[in-house]
Amino acid sequence: MTYPPGLFKELGFLSLYLTGVGLVGFQFDQLPWIVLGALSIYFFWHISQAVRLNLWLNQSKKYSKPYAVGIWRGVLSAIEALRERGRKRKRKLGRMLSGFQQSTSALPDATVVIDSSGEMEWWNDSATRILGLDRKQDMGRNIEGVITDPVFLGYLTDGDYLRPIQIPDPVDGSVSLEVRVVPYGKGKRLLQARDITRLQQLETVRRDFVANVSHEMRTPLTVIHGYLETMVDSVDPGLAPWSRIVMQMQQQTTRMQRIVWDLLLLSRLETNQDTEGQVEVDVPALVERLEQEAATLSASASHVIHVDIDPALKLFANPDELDSAFSNLVFNAVRYTPAGGEIFLAWALTEQGPCFSVRDTGIGIEAEHIPRLTERFYRVDVGRSRQSGGTGLGLAIVKHVLTRHNGRLQIESQPGKGSLFRCCFPASRIC
Ligand code: ADP
Repeated sequence: MTYPPGLFKELGFLSLYLTGVGLVGFQFDQLPWIVLGALSIYFFWHISQAVRLNLWLNQSKKYSKPYAVGIWRGVLSAIEALRERGRKRKRKLGRMLSGFQQSTSALPDATVVIDSSGEMEWWNDSATRILGLDRKQDMGRNIEGVITDPVFLGYLTDGDYLRPIQIPDPVDGSVSLEVRVVPYGKGKRLLQARDITRLQQLETVRRDFVANVSHEMRTPLTVIHGYLETMVDSVDPGLAPWSRIVMQMQQQTTRMQRIVWDLLLLSRLETNQDTEGQVEVDVPALVERLEQEAATLSASASHVIHVDIDPALKLFANPDELDSAFSNLVFNAVRYTPAGGEIFLAWALTEQGPCFSVRDTGIGIEAEHIPRLTERFYRVDVGRSRQSGGTGLGLAIVKHVLTRHNGRLQIESQPGKGSLFRCCFPASRIC
């Protein structure tokens, strides 16, 4: 056990004091009264020290600290040490905060700290420039009064901040911003906005280029394919030695036509932002039709196809886009499941909303490939995909269609055991 500094001095003083007082009391034959008086003085001294301490702790600028004698020396030095430690921590935090503010100020992205009610508490220089904020006028203003775009307001109130949104700059409408909100602390939110105008321009150039090339290739390909078809069907004996070559050429043009068709479909999905063409889709009928088409495609491979459909579940969607997405998944299941395997198609209302799922007992996919499957031309086994007539664009189409319907694609798979592709839509789309 460690004793507080000054304790022994205090006790020494007290015993000397009481002895001295005792002697005086003894001499005057008033021992109890004199000792009682001396103890009262001692008691009031400590009370006055405690009062001083209280005042000094609360208003150290106005009141002086208690006398650092006896046991009070230890108490005061402990308090000083604590205060010094607090001051050091404050200085360190201050340095960290100003370092943080300097670094965020230097960032090209606008950064704004908003509280739980949406009031702006702090922002960096880029936010002043990008969002047109004024340090004097806008401090404490609600962010909803600064960025009034309805998409942003919806994003802010929805509270689903997993994905960033794209909105026009409130200052200059020709600039596009990518806005992300990150919640932290107790109800605080960090808003980040970056200028993506250039990126968007590049993306438009890329999209237009792919769409134009695909479009330009369509006609020559149709012509070549048509001639090749005529040559394949021809009975001209002069063509007989070329028949295998012509057949291969025709197969390749068919493949190229499929790629061009898928590329055009993808670019249509990317460019067309409106939701026109969305109606009540009879998904049960669509799934039934896909089951039959899958059986035809399976042909001699004779897969066993199981179907589980909720007949009353209809969806507000674009019928052609839904058809493209679902058929890609069903045909993939047939193509990547060895002969005799099983395929399960389901359309049902689940906890995640209405979901269409395709499960197969096919070759499966290694976990490392799954996050990349929806990239264009990403194929686990290029040879196998080509051989079975794949373009490498099917899952990219599925992803785009789902994004346009606020849906999500989930993929689970085990190599050698099979795969599950599930498309889930928001419950608000049920008709
Ligand atoms: P592809 O035309 O090559 O099938 P997709 O975009 O449809 O292109 O699919 C991408 C890749 O995902 C395929 O090449 C294949 O490797 C894998 N894949 C898709 N569906 C399945 C499935 N049901 N089972 C196993 N692998 C699959």
